[in-house]
Amino acid sequence: MAGLSELASRLRTELGTEKVIDDRQELRTYECDGLAHYKVVPGLVVLARSTADVAAAVRACNDAGVPFVARGSGTGLSGGALPHADGILIVMSQMREILEIDRDGQRAVVEPGVINLQVTRAAAAGGYYYAPDPSSQQVCSIGGNVAENSGGAHCLKYGFTTNHVLGVEFVDPSGNVIEIGGKAPDSPGYDLLGTIVGSEGTLGIATRVTVKLTRAPESVETLLAGFDDTDAAGQAVSAIIAAGVIPAAVEMMDALAIEAAEEAVHCGYPEGAGAVLVVELDGPASEVDAQFADVKRLCDQAGAFELRVAADDAERALIWRGRKSAFAAVGRISPDYIVQDGVIPRTALPEVLRAIADLSGQSGVRVANVFHAGDGNLHPLVLFDDAVDGAAEAAEKVSGQILDLCLQHGGSITGEHGVGADKAKHMPDMFTADDLDTMQLVRCAFDPNGLSNPGKVFPTPRLCGEVPGRHRGAHPLVEAGLAEQF
Ligand SMILES: Cc1cc2nc3c(=O)[nH]c(=O)nc-3n(C[C@H](O)[C@H](O)[C@H](O)COP(=O)(O)OP(=O)(O)OC[C@H]3O[C@@H](n4cnc5c(N)ncnc54)[C@H](O)[C@@H]3O)c2cc1C
Repeated sequence: MAGLSELASRLRTELGTEKVIDDRQELRTYECDGLAHYKVVPGLVVLARSTADVAAAVRACNDAGVPFVARGSGTGLSGGALPHADGILIVMSQMREILEIDRDGQRAVVEPGVINLQVTRAAAAGGYYYAPDPSSQQVCSIGGNVAENSGGAHCLKYGFTTNHVLGVEFVDPSGNVIEIGGKAPDSPGYDLLGTIVGSEGTLGIATRVTVKLTRAPESVETLLAGFDDTDAAGQAVSAIIAAGVIPAAVEMMDALAIEAAEEAVHCGYPEGAGAVLVVELDGPASEVDAQFADVKRLCDQAGAFELRVAADDAERALIWRGRKSAFAAVGRISPDYIVQDGVIPRTALPEVLRAIADLSGQSGVRVANVFHAGDGNLHPLVLFDDAVDGAAEAAEKVSGQILDLCLQHGGSITGEHGVGADKAKHMPDMFTADDLDTMQLVRCAFDPNGLSNPGKVFPTPRLCGEVPGRHRGAHPLVEAGLAEQF
């Protein structure tokens, strides 16, 4: 810890006393993100207020060989912002200025701590909004969204964060401030912007982000459909997409998730439903009207026993309230739960949901399902009571088995919540050693000393001298003259 106290003195001199926290009690505030069962008290916290602050903190870490982790709002669900006990947590939440709203150019330039929904609010007066809308949009930061390549209910039609980021100002792990991308589309050279988005803070820290603004649609229609079971609801989803309709959102909740939402926010979903779908269409009024008629017919044909159309914005908000509050609502029916995140092809929905129900039945671990059905992006909520011996372990096991199911059906171990600390161990289930090593080469190009959020994403880092392993020394790609290690 002597290293950290020297670092604290250096940072107090360079940044000012008020931006550096080393009081043990205060540090505990930052011991976890939204995945609260992993906890590590950071060695030191820096509250950054500018790019210069971030660069100074990173340079100091680089000089001292100390790891650092960026933190936005701390809503991540994979332990990505989990601190290091012997490292610095660089908190971005005070960098909250919207620097520019350029309606004519359809873009905004914001600091990374700006809350997702604030961008939409700032753009609304000119008839624009920011399309990627995680359910945490009232609290999560744009920097965290960039790091996680976050999705949300409307990403089925509009794409994930990566489709809406034009450029970033970025502090690399040596403390250099670099510009990647910009206001013009499609810069020459490697797609470094695509590499940065979704890199989970392992390549450096975004200090300014240029995002696209999307024109608010002329018309929006929202439907709540009640079904007897998830099979019927899944068939409706497949039928809608097969008919060539791309809704702005298609969300599904099963009986347990509905029960939780009803208890928490009294959203008045159809009584007795084994599953509900929230389907939203947006666009030009004539197109929306025609497609909405198709959607209602297809839900009806798949067996919907109740169809409820939102008559106005207030009714629309009520329909969405159940869905948007679902994660938190589950706290009403279970003291503890794991929010899992995996993707499957949409057509496998009925089969995989049945298999999850079987896993739940066999293990006695309850699983509530609430998810982005149109993308096949599942969010099984695995319920347990930590006070019961062995319950957490049983829930962890079921949670891992659900990821196995996703892989068996050609899916992925994460859709939008990132790998973080939580799923690093599952990466070899999806990628070969060579795949992972190639990703590590990219990481090493940015971060040769392995200081930027180490221990996340990769199960056992083998390059950059982080941890000894199979490829310590020259990487096979380097030996073959196919890659260069810096
Ligand atoms: C109730 C709830 C609902 C959610 N719904 C969704 C959803 O629908 N879709 C979805 O995608 N996610 C969802 N999430 C997950 C979470 O909100 C997102 O992952 C979000 O992008 C995290 O943002 P944050 O600011 O809280 O980041 P943090 O949790 O603080 O950090 C997340 C990761 O980003 C890195 N990071 C943060 N800021 C920076 C920066 N400036 N530069 C580089 N790296 C940085 C951190 O090191 C960490 O690895 C939900 C979470 C909750 C609690």
